[in-house]
Amino acid sequence: MSLIVSQISKKYPVRSGWLPILGDCSFELELGQSLSVVGPSGSGKSTLLSILGTLETASSGSVCLDNIQVLSLSEKELPKFRRYKIGFVFQEHHLLPQCTALENVLIPFLGEGRISKEQYNRACFLLQHVGLADRLEHRPAELSGGERQRIAIARSLVYSPSLILADEPTGNLDRNSATMVGDLLLELSKTTMLVIATHDPVLASRTSQQFQINSGTLIKVKREVIVS
Ligand code: ADP
Ligand code: MG
Repeated sequence: MSLIVSQISKKYPVRSGWLPILGDCSFELELGQSLSVVGPSGSGKSTLLSILGTLETASSGSVCLDNIQVLSLSEKELPKFRRYKIGFVFQEHHLLPQCTALENVLIPFLGEGRISKEQYNRACFLLQHVGLADRLEHRPAELSGGERQRIAIARSLVYSPSLILADEPTGNLDRNSATMVGDLLLELSKTTMLVIATHDPVLASRTSQQFQINSGTLIKVKREVIVS
């Protein structure tokens, strides 16, 4: 598993010309690594994650995930690539309110038609894995914010993605729930790759690579070396 991001830039067309958002962003990530991006609101964090997640295209530069050049994929190939390679976790969990926790995790499988026994078992396993084995039949309104986010994380894992993209995953949570969700994401990143956009300095400091976004560019945060 690897993610190689080379000199990506993004600008949006506006009435007066072009609005530059990102410029010359590069990094490399491999299996077992996590990376955080911090930066003020409007600095381009979600735009960067959307490009990594193939929801947006970069204006220039390249994204290579597991040796696949994302820009070379056709419109027809992209949804499948996205489904199997990338897991999305958003600040707003985007759970369906009328569905139970288990049904919400099964939703990504519905694109393939009927749910198989293996898929059902996988959804149960994932909910157990995120610590919600006894909440399978609960609806989102009957769960805490942290529990809802853990369902969203379970849902993002149904196809065992190479890359988990988490956009302010703890933004709506109290400190205890945020710690639990952070623990879970970082634990998962040991067998995948994880990119987190966050305002949470504690969560950011726990990832293996740390960047700040500054005037559209990623600046590596130097870690303090603690000498004991
Ligand atoms: P962040 O996630 O760091 O808060 P975003 O990536 O959401 O920032 O947005 C970065 C900037 O890009 C913002 O100024 C936003 O207004 C602008 N932007 C985002 N999407 C579009 C778009 N589709 N068209 C024009 N500008 C956009
Ligand atoms: Mg954002």
